Amino acid sequence: MSKMRFFALQELAGRKPLEVIPPSNKLSDYYGSHVFDRKKMQEYLPREAYRAVTDAIEKGTPINREMADLIAAGMKNWAKSLGVTHYTHWFQPLTDGTAEKHDGFIEFGEDGDVIERFSGKLLVQQEPDASSFPNGGIRNTFEARGYTAWDVSSPAFVVDTTLCIPTIFIAYTGEALDYKTPLLKALNAVDKAATEVCQLFDKNIKRVYANLGWEQEYFLVDLALYNARPDLCLTGRTLMGHSSAKDQQLEDHYFGSIPPRVTAFMKELEIECHKLGIPVKTRHNEVAPNQFELAPIFENVNLANDHNQLVMDLMKRIARKHNFAVLLHEKPYNGVNGSGKHNNWSLCTDTGINLFGPGKNPKTNMLFLTFLVNVLMMVYKNQDLLRASIASAGNSYRLGANEAPPAILSIFLGRQLSAILDDIVQQANSTQLDEKERTTLKLGIGRIPEILLDTTDRNRTSPFAFTGNRFEFRAAGSSANCAGAMIAINAAMANQLNEFKASVDKLMEEGVSKEEAIFRILKENIIASAPIRFEGDGYSEAWKQEAARRGLTNICHVPEALMHYVDNQSKSVLIGERIFNETELNSRLEVELEKFTMKVQIESRVLGDLAINHIVPTAVSYQNRLLENLRGLRETFTPEEYEELSADRKELIREISHRVTAIKMQVRQMTEARKVANHMDNYKDRAFAYEETVKPFLASIRDHIDHLEMEVDDEIWPLPKYRELLFTK
Ligand code: ADP
Ligand code: MG
Repeated sequence: MSKMRFFALQELAGRKPLEVIPPSNKLSDYYGSHVFDRKKMQEYLPREAYRAVTDAIEKGTPINREMADLIAAGMKNWAKSLGVTHYTHWFQPLTDGTAEKHDGFIEFGEDGDVIERFSGKLLVQQEPDASSFPNGGIRNTFEARGYTAWDVSSPAFVVDTTLCIPTIFIAYTGEALDYKTPLLKALNAVDKAATEVCQLFDKNIKRVYANLGWEQEYFLVDLALYNARPDLCLTGRTLMGHSSAKDQQLEDHYFGSIPPRVTAFMKELEIECHKLGIPVKTRHNEVAPNQFELAPIFENVNLANDHNQLVMDLMKRIARKHNFAVLLHEKPYNGVNGSGKHNNWSLCTDTGINLFGPGKNPKTNMLFLTFLVNVLMMVYKNQDLLRASIASAGNSYRLGANEAPPAILSIFLGRQLSAILDDIVQQANSTQLDEKERTTLKLGIGRIPEILLDTTDRNRTSPFAFTGNRFEFRAAGSSANCAGAMIAINAAMANQLNEFKASVDKLMEEGVSKEEAIFRILKENIIASAPIRFEGDGYSEAWKQEAARRGLTNICHVPEALMHYVDNQSKSVLIGERIFNETELNSRLEVELEKFTMKVQIESRVLGDLAINHIVPTAVSYQNRLLENLRGLRETFTPEEYEELSADRKELIREISHRVTAIKMQVRQMTEARKVANHMDNYKDRAFAYEETVKPFLASIRDHIDHLEMEVDDEIWPLPKYRELLFTK
């Protein structure tokens, strides 16, 4: 066995679970201890400063300099009580993950003495030299400055000895360079649009909040094995590896008992989350071996997204302590399930109504129905934008690939809710009903509450499923920033609701009553959006054909999917709702395409290196042993006996030769394809070339390597195998 693999397995054999002790037996004693929440603000801030913050959060009023100084001073004092020495503006550039640059509180005072200072100016705004963050051509180097500015709606928190202040990140010229800025805009847009629609029903509704409950899937792998797999270290996924004799076919991992080392990791992760006020609640095994899931209680989208970003960071750090590496990649292993990040999404009014929750009386049911139908229409019209929002190199191995949801968008409503919608259309057509009867809904809508109580036929194969009181967008990738999907969904919903409202208004201007107008437009939308509704098996081949017949798109080609960010419909949503301006949208497209190109480029290089430096030499040296064996046989036996005994070995030698030759040739061709692509000036052409001419080699080279893995002596195979990566605890 190669030394690397041997030592990794040896190290692993000696692992013990770490002991994890919570700060207190009572969760509520330490929950939120590291967050500058309202309770702490009240304690540490003068009354007027406290009011300035809450007004900023609730009404968006700006915080003046004097107040900012008071807030910063209070925040610093609180942070110092936790031993904090540094602070950072914490932001979400367009890379995977978050960015922070830590500055000490240390400063020279007036008389040259060292003092600890944290002023309002430093709290509110900073100018990190951020020229090396992706910006899609927005920033020239001579304008390399970017601004980070405090997002008051997400509370400051402490990690280790650093005070972290959630911020947006924008260019010197004002364009957004992060995920948070457009997310806040999209949330604002959906708030405005949804509130206007709500007011058709209830004038008391003044605001609508979007909620997000994410479910984070991930794999754990022992750190020693991880370090012995350069592909995992450098690309986050295995670029080779024959499937294990056993993987998930027995389905014995899902909800199975969690191994003690993993439990210890999860326990510590939960404690750290709770200290940071992240309400994580459920943990369990997922379908694939060594795959797990973590989910919190839902929160408003902006906060929930910050929390998800933070959790992904925490996971990586805490996993290391427990000698694990955490894999957030969408498809770390071929042949077993990949990891997604379900985005549970709902809209809720300031009067406490969940707009996706079927109400108790017909009037609120009508409100529910209005939002439900608008979601159908939103997804139907914006399939391509939604797909663009979750398209990435990693996710392309999950969506539309073998054992995963397809890249086709569809909505699952459940049989009964579907039937109700169909009823509405039918009864409205056949109708003798007077207007009152229609709107007080003798149309089966009154049945909703009882029906939904037993809507347990939850279709797990649907990319966009109604699950009783929310929609669950399941196509998002595990490593993604939820903001990608949340920007698209909330902006598209805002756009759809605005159109809906405009159509209703128009009918009303023509003299149609409000109820009748709403009803008519809903009916039209139910009919128009019918193709997006699908209750069957989303993983089946039949659905692909059916979807094509219905005119739904199915785009597995990543750059092509991304290009839909700038198609007409997406522009009318993203630019029309003022989430991005033209420059920002184009720059975002450029960043996403470049990210794709670079990821495939790195994978291709790593695979090339491993193939030529690890796999080919191993195969050749095994082949030499076989050749030696043949020579021995020839010396020992008569020619006839030799012929008979050597046939299988000759065949194996031939097979290995064939594969080695193929690998070498394909690596050369892949390198050539890279060169050609790299020379293209245009980032779009480059991304398309990487998808079409480089990426296919990853699979075909891998196929030869995976066969060699089964042919070559296990003793000399250089890399940890799937059975080791997936089944060791
Ligand atoms: P499942 O795996 O069955 O989908 P989980 O319990 O793992 O369910 O996750 C459900 C997620 O949905 C949780 O994050 C939960 O907080 C969230 N959720 C529940 N209700 C809502 C809602 N009304 N709006 C948004 N998210 C919700
Ligand atoms: Mg779910």
